[in-house]
Amino acid sequence: MSDQEFKRALGYANSAMDLLKRASVPPYPQFYELLYTYATGVNPALNTRINGIFRDGNPTVDVAEQLYDEFLKSQDASERISAVSQRMSTRIEAVHEAIDTAMTTANAYSGALQAASGDLDIESDPQALKVMARRLLNETRRMQDANHQLEQKLEASRDDIALLQRDLDDVRREAMLDPLTKICNRKAFDESLVKAFADARTQQTPMSLVLLDIDHFKRFNDTWGHQTGDQVLRLVAMTLKSNIKGQDTAARYGGEEFAAILPMTDLEGAITVADNVRSAVQAKELLKRSTNEKLGRITASFGVATYRPGDTPSTLIERADRCLYAAKHAGRNRVHNETELADDDVVAA
Ligand code: GH3
Ligand code: MG
Ligand code: MG
Repeated sequence: MSDQEFKRALGYANSAMDLLKRASVPPYPQFYELLYTYATGVNPALNTRINGIFRDGNPTVDVAEQLYDEFLKSQDASERISAVSQRMSTRIEAVHEAIDTAMTTANAYSGALQAASGDLDIESDPQALKVMARRLLNETRRMQDANHQLEQKLEASRDDIALLQRDLDDVRREAMLDPLTKICNRKAFDESLVKAFADARTQQTPMSLVLLDIDHFKRFNDTWGHQTGDQVLRLVAMTLKSNIKGQDTAARYGGEEFAAILPMTDLEGAITVADNVRSAVQAKELLKRSTNEKLGRITASFGVATYRPGDTPSTLIERADRCLYAAKHAGRNRVHNETELADDDVVAA
C-alpha cells in the first residue's frame, strides 16, 4: 500500500468516526462501514440518501440499520440457497401433513361407509334407517370439510412454491455473477467455455477466446484508491460487455483480468472485437463522480487465441494467456494473437 493510499483510507476512517459521533450512532462495525462508504463517495445513491437524512436531522440507529441492510449487507449465495431450501422443506412438510390428515379422514369415511352398507343389509326399521342416513350425511360433510381444507392448503402451497422457485432461480443466476461487475464470474466462464468448446468441436465451427488484463492497475489503485479501482473494474466490464454479441460471454476471469468467449467467431473476428474493446477502454476519460476529479485514462492488453483441433479448454486458455503476456511485453495497450506468438515472447514474459 502506498503512503498516499494509507493517508486517504485514514481520512475516510476519521470522517466516518466524526459522522458517527455527530449523529450519536454507536460505532458498531456495520455503522462504521456505512459511513466509511459514505465518506469515500463510491456509492452515489447511498450518499444522496444519507445527505437527505442529515439535512432533516440525524440518523437514528433504526435508520442506520435499514440503510445497512439496503446498501451493504450482502448475503452470500450459499446462505441464500440454504434459506430458500429451508423454506422449501417447511412447505413440503406442511403439504405432507395436510395429505396425512386428509387420508385419515378419508379412511374414517370409508370405514363408516362400509359399516353402513353392512347395517343396511340387516336393518329394515325406518327410524333406524333415518338415523343411519343422518350419520352418513354427517360423515360426508366432515369429508367435504376435510377436502376443502386440503384444497386450501394445497392452493397456498402452490403459490408459495412458485415464489420459492423464483427465489431459487434468482439465487442460481446470482451464483454465476461476479458481485462487483455483475458480469459472469469464473465459474460461469468455465462452464461457458466447456460448452462453447464442445459446440465448436462437434459442429466444426470456429470459436475464439479473448483475455484482457488492465495495464498498470496496481499503480492506479495506489494513486486513486482501491474503491476507485473497483469503479474502473465495473467500467471495463461494461465496455467489454457492450462490445460483444448475444451468444458471446463476457466474464471476470480474475482480479483485473477479463475474458470473452466468442462462439462462431474466427481469429480475425476475435481480433476485431478485442481491438474495439481496447480502443473503447482507452477512449474513456475517467472522472471521480464524487469529486469530479480527473483520473486520466487506463489501457488494457489483450491476448487472442482460436480453437484448433486437438485443443482442450486449458490449452486454448494457455495460448490466449501467452498472447496476453506477449502483448504486455511488447509495450501494453495492444492486442496480440496466436499467430504472432514467438518462443522468445513466451520465455521473456
Ligand atoms: P500489468 O500492466 O503488468 O498488468 O500491471 P498491473 O499492475 O495491472 O499488474 P499486477 O498483476 O502487478 O497487479 C494487479 C493489480 O490489480 C493488483 C491489485 O491491486 C489490482 N486488483 C486486483 N483485483 C482487484 C479488485 O478487485 N479491485 C481493485 N480495486 N483492484 C484489484
Ligand atoms: Mg493481472
Ligand atoms: Mg494488470
